[in-house]
Amino acid sequence: MLKSILNLFFPPVCSGCKAFLLSNENIICTICRHEAPLTNHHLYTENEAFKKFYGRIPVEHASALLYFHKKGIVQEMIHGLKYRGQEEVGTVLGEWYAEDLKKLEIVQSVDAIIPVPLHKKRLRNRGYNQVTNFGLALSENLKIPYNASLLKRNIYSKTQSKKNLLGRTEGIDSVFDVSFSEKDHNKHFLLIDDVITTGATLEVCSKALLKIPGARISIVCMAMAHS
Ligand SMILES: [Zn+2]
Repeated sequence: MLKSILNLFFPPVCSGCKAFLLSNENIICTICRHEAPLTNHHLYTENEAFKKFYGRIPVEHASALLYFHKKGIVQEMIHGLKYRGQEEVGTVLGEWYAEDLKKLEIVQSVDAIIPVPLHKKRLRNRGYNQVTNFGLALSENLKIPYNASLLKRNIYSKTQSKKNLLGRTEGIDSVFDVSFSEKDHNKHFLLIDDVITTGATLEVCSKALLKIPGARISIVCMAMAHS
Protein backbone atom coordinates (compact mmCIF):
# COMPACT_ATOMS: atom_id res chain seq x y z
CA MET A 1 0.00 0.00 0.00
CA LEU A 2 2.67 2.47 1.08
CA LYS A 3 4.77 1.33 -1.85
CA SER A 4 1.99 1.97 -4.35
CA ILE A 5 1.37 5.45 -2.91
CA LEU A 6 5.08 6.22 -3.12
CA ASN A 7 5.17 4.89 -6.67
CA LEU A 8 2.40 7.32 -7.60
CA PHE A 9 4.54 10.30 -6.64
CA PHE A 10 7.96 8.82 -7.37
CA PRO A 11 7.44 6.29 -10.15
CA PRO A 12 10.37 3.86 -10.22
CA VAL A 13 12.72 4.24 -13.17
CA CYS A 14 15.08 1.77 -14.81
CA SER A 15 18.58 1.91 -13.33
CA GLY A 16 20.03 1.52 -16.83
CA CYS A 17 18.06 3.94 -19.05
CA LYS A 18 15.87 5.94 -16.61
CA ALA A 19 12.65 4.98 -18.43
CA PHE A 20 9.64 4.50 -16.15
CA LEU A 21 9.30 0.86 -15.13
CA LEU A 22 6.15 -1.12 -15.87
CA SER A 23 4.45 -2.83 -12.92
CA ASN A 24 5.95 -6.20 -13.92
CA GLU A 25 9.49 -4.81 -14.19
CA ASN A 26 11.98 -4.62 -11.34
CA ILE A 27 15.01 -2.25 -11.22
CA ILE A 28 16.04 -2.97 -14.84
CA CYS A 29 13.55 -2.56 -17.71
CA THR A 30 12.88 -5.28 -20.28
CA ILE A 31 14.64 -3.33 -23.05
CA CYS A 32 17.83 -2.89 -21.00
CA ARG A 33 17.75 -6.58 -20.09
CA HIS A 34 17.64 -7.45 -23.78
CA GLU A 35 20.21 -4.88 -24.83
CA ALA A 36 22.63 -5.37 -21.93
CA PRO A 37 26.06 -6.31 -23.33
CA LEU A 38 26.50 -9.88 -22.06
CA THR A 39 30.06 -11.24 -22.01
CA ASN A 40 28.98 -14.91 -22.16
CA HIS A 41 32.19 -15.66 -20.24
CA HIS A 42 30.49 -18.60 -18.54
CA LEU A 43 30.42 -20.45 -21.86
CA TYR A 44 34.23 -20.47 -22.19
CA THR A 45 36.76 -21.59 -19.59
CA GLU A 46 39.63 -19.57 -21.05
CA ASN A 47 37.64 -16.35 -21.47
CA GLU A 48 39.09 -12.84 -21.29
CA ALA A 49 38.36 -12.48 -17.57
CA PHE A 50 40.24 -15.72 -16.94
CA LYS A 51 43.14 -14.58 -19.14
CA LYS A 52 43.33 -11.29 -17.21
CA PHE A 53 44.82 -13.25 -14.29
CA TYR A 54 47.29 -15.35 -16.32
CA GLY A 55 50.71 -15.28 -14.65
CA ARG A 56 49.34 -13.26 -11.74
CA ILE A 57 47.30 -15.66 -9.64
CA PRO A 58 46.03 -19.19 -10.24
CA VAL A 59 42.26 -19.08 -10.75
CA GLU A 60 39.88 -21.98 -11.26
CA HIS A 61 37.26 -19.82 -12.95
CA ALA A 62 36.85 -16.11 -13.72
CA SER A 63 33.91 -14.35 -15.32
CA ALA A 64 31.80 -11.20 -15.42
CA LEU A 65 28.14 -10.97 -16.41
CA LEU A 66 28.25 -7.74 -18.44
CA TYR A 67 30.62 -5.47 -20.33
CA PHE A 68 31.15 -2.06 -18.77
CA HIS A 69 31.33 0.74 -21.34
CA LYS A 70 31.83 4.41 -20.46
CA LYS A 71 28.44 6.18 -20.65
CA GLY A 72 26.64 2.89 -21.33
CA ILE A 73 23.66 1.38 -19.49
CA VAL A 74 25.92 -0.88 -17.39
CA GLN A 75 27.86 2.16 -16.15
CA GLU A 76 24.52 3.73 -15.22
CA MET A 77 23.51 0.62 -13.27
CA ILE A 78 26.85 0.32 -11.44
CA HIS A 79 26.96 4.04 -10.64
CA GLY A 80 23.40 3.83 -9.34
CA LEU A 81 24.49 0.94 -7.15
CA LYS A 82 27.66 2.64 -5.90
CA TYR A 83 26.77 6.29 -5.68
CA ARG A 84 22.98 6.68 -5.67
CA GLY A 85 21.93 4.14 -3.07
CA GLN A 86 20.37 1.72 -5.58
CA GLU A 87 21.39 -1.37 -3.61
CA GLU A 88 18.79 -3.57 -5.34
CA VAL A 89 20.80 -3.44 -8.58
CA GLY A 90 23.18 -5.92 -6.93
CA THR A 91 20.34 -8.30 -6.09
CA VAL A 92 18.98 -8.24 -9.64
CA LEU A 93 22.42 -8.83 -11.19
CA GLY A 94 23.17 -11.62 -8.71
CA GLU A 95 19.88 -13.43 -9.46
CA TRP A 96 20.50 -12.96 -13.16
CA TYR A 97 24.06 -14.32 -13.08
CA ALA A 98 23.21 -17.23 -10.79
CA GLU A 99 21.05 -18.67 -13.59
CA ASP A 100 24.14 -18.94 -15.83
CA LEU A 101 26.64 -19.91 -13.13
CA LYS A 102 24.58 -22.73 -11.62
CA LYS A 103 25.15 -24.73 -14.83
CA LEU A 104 28.93 -24.77 -14.29
CA GLU A 105 30.51 -27.73 -12.53
CA ILE A 106 33.43 -25.61 -11.30
CA VAL A 107 31.01 -23.23 -9.57
CA GLN A 108 29.23 -26.17 -7.93
CA SER A 109 32.54 -26.98 -6.19
CA VAL A 110 32.73 -23.55 -4.49
CA ASP A 111 32.65 -23.65 -0.68
CA ALA A 112 32.16 -19.96 0.14
CA ILE A 113 31.42 -16.62 -1.54
CA ILE A 114 33.82 -13.89 -0.39
CA PRO A 115 33.14 -10.19 -1.10
CA VAL A 116 35.99 -7.74 -1.70
CA PRO A 117 35.72 -5.78 1.56
CA LEU A 118 35.28 -2.04 1.87
CA HIS A 119 37.20 -0.18 4.54
CA LYS A 120 35.11 0.78 7.58
CA LYS A 121 35.41 4.45 6.74
CA ARG A 122 34.05 4.03 3.23
CA LEU A 123 31.43 1.62 4.51
CA ARG A 124 30.29 4.32 6.92
CA ASN A 125 30.12 6.94 4.15
CA ARG A 126 28.24 4.75 1.69
CA GLY A 127 26.24 2.85 4.28
CA TYR A 128 26.70 -0.48 2.51
CA ASN A 129 29.21 -2.56 0.55
CA GLN A 130 27.99 -2.48 -3.06
CA VAL A 131 28.83 -6.15 -3.60
CA THR A 132 26.88 -7.45 -0.59
CA ASN A 133 23.51 -7.87 -2.33
CA PHE A 134 25.14 -9.37 -5.41
CA GLY A 135 26.89 -11.90 -3.17
CA LEU A 136 23.78 -12.68 -1.13
CA ALA A 137 21.73 -13.26 -4.28
CA LEU A 138 24.43 -15.58 -5.65
CA SER A 139 24.62 -17.32 -2.29
CA GLU A 140 20.88 -17.91 -2.11
CA ASN A 141 20.46 -19.03 -5.70
CA LEU A 142 23.60 -21.17 -5.90
CA LYS A 143 23.15 -22.53 -2.34
CA ILE A 144 26.71 -21.55 -1.37
CA PRO A 145 27.49 -19.91 2.01
CA TYR A 146 28.38 -16.20 2.03
CA ASN A 147 31.36 -15.23 4.19
CA ALA A 148 32.09 -11.52 4.70
CA SER A 149 34.42 -11.99 7.68
CA LEU A 150 37.27 -14.09 6.24
CA LEU A 151 38.88 -11.33 4.15
CA LYS A 152 39.52 -7.95 5.78
CA ARG A 153 40.77 -4.58 4.61
CA ASN A 154 43.37 -2.93 6.80
CA ILE A 155 44.42 0.42 5.40
CA TYR A 156 42.18 3.15 4.09
CA SER A 157 43.37 3.93 0.59
CA LYS A 158 41.63 6.24 -1.86
CA THR A 159 43.64 4.98 -4.77
CA GLN A 160 43.73 1.29 -3.93
CA SER A 161 42.14 0.28 -7.23
CA LYS A 162 44.49 2.43 -9.32
CA LYS A 163 48.04 1.72 -10.32
CA ASN A 164 50.66 4.21 -9.25
CA LEU A 165 52.53 6.43 -11.71
CA LEU A 166 54.89 3.63 -12.64
CA GLY A 167 52.00 1.28 -13.32
CA ARG A 168 52.87 -0.84 -10.32
CA THR A 169 50.38 -2.29 -7.97
CA GLU A 170 52.72 -3.23 -5.15
CA GLY A 171 52.24 -1.46 -1.88
CA ILE A 172 48.60 -2.45 -1.77
CA ASP A 173 49.35 -6.05 -0.84
CA SER A 174 49.12 -5.17 2.82
CA VAL A 175 45.65 -3.63 2.36
CA PHE A 176 43.93 -7.02 2.66
CA ASP A 177 44.40 -9.77 5.17
CA VAL A 178 42.69 -12.99 6.17
CA SER A 179 41.64 -14.28 9.56
CA PHE A 180 41.13 -18.00 9.25
CA SER A 181 41.18 -21.21 11.24
CA GLU A 182 41.73 -24.83 10.31
CA LYS A 183 38.13 -25.25 9.14
CA ASP A 184 38.92 -22.81 6.29
CA HIS A 185 41.75 -24.99 4.93
CA ASN A 186 41.41 -26.71 1.52
CA LYS A 187 38.43 -24.63 0.40
CA HIS A 188 37.39 -23.22 -2.95
CA PHE A 189 36.61 -19.51 -2.54
CA LEU A 190 34.55 -17.45 -4.96
CA LEU A 191 35.78 -13.88 -4.74
CA ILE A 192 33.26 -11.28 -5.95
CA ASP A 193 33.50 -7.60 -6.93
CA ASP A 194 31.59 -5.04 -8.98
CA VAL A 195 33.81 -4.27 -12.00
CA ILE A 196 37.03 -5.90 -13.25
CA THR A 197 39.27 -3.15 -14.62
CA THR A 198 42.99 -3.80 -14.10
CA GLY A 199 42.22 -6.71 -11.80
CA ALA A 200 44.71 -5.31 -9.26
CA THR A 201 42.31 -5.35 -6.30
CA LEU A 202 41.15 -8.89 -7.10
CA GLU A 203 44.77 -9.96 -7.44
CA VAL A 204 45.78 -8.73 -3.99
CA CYS A 205 42.60 -10.12 -2.42
CA SER A 206 43.35 -13.49 -4.02
CA LYS A 207 46.92 -13.41 -2.74
CA ALA A 208 45.60 -12.81 0.77
CA LEU A 209 43.16 -15.75 0.44
CA LEU A 210 45.94 -17.95 -0.94
CA LYS A 211 47.71 -17.65 2.44
CA ILE A 212 45.12 -20.17 3.62
CA PRO A 213 46.54 -23.69 3.15
CA GLY A 214 44.98 -25.52 0.21
CA ALA A 215 42.92 -22.48 -0.93
CA ARG A 216 41.59 -22.38 -4.47
CA ILE A 217 40.22 -19.18 -6.02
CA SER A 218 37.50 -18.32 -8.51
CA ILE A 219 36.40 -14.80 -9.41
CA VAL A 220 32.96 -13.54 -10.43
CA CYS A 221 32.08 -9.90 -11.08
CA MET A 222 29.05 -7.94 -12.21
CA ALA A 223 30.90 -6.35 -15.11
CA MET A 224 34.23 -6.09 -16.87
CA ALA A 225 35.69 -3.00 -18.53
CA HIS A 226 35.81 -3.60 -22.26
CA SER A 227 39.26 -3.32 -23.77
ZN1 LIG B 1 16.13 0.46 -19.12
